[in-house]
Amino acid sequence: MHVKKGDTVMVIAGKDKGKKGKILKVYPKKSRVVVEGVNIVHRHTKPSQQFPQGGIIENEAPIHVSNVQLVCPRCNEAARTGKRILDDGKKVRYCKKCGEVVDK
Ligand SMILES: [Zn+2]
Repeated sequence: MHVKKGDTVMVIAGKDKGKKGKILKVYPKKSRVVVEGVNIVHRHTKPSQQFPQGGIIENEAPIHVSNVQLVCPRCNEAARTGKRILDDGKKVRYCKKCGEVVDK
């Protein structure tokens, strides 16, 4: 997985192409992520304890991780990232465009 929870990513394919959002959930086994405000699905529900009124619930559905790219904090756009190992052994991701380290 080239992205993780809390990352800001841009959608680069599909109906939400160009949208930016924060990763809320990752499903590493399925290679899918849930991105805030992206791939919204409407679910009709019957009234229940959790939703006494019932009706339509809006929810983000997972999308494939290959459809998102990390947003570089310096370029402020989707960027390809590489991995770099720091002197202390920590692995960080960096923007291939400007070299900015994304993981602080
Ligand atoms: Zn950059």
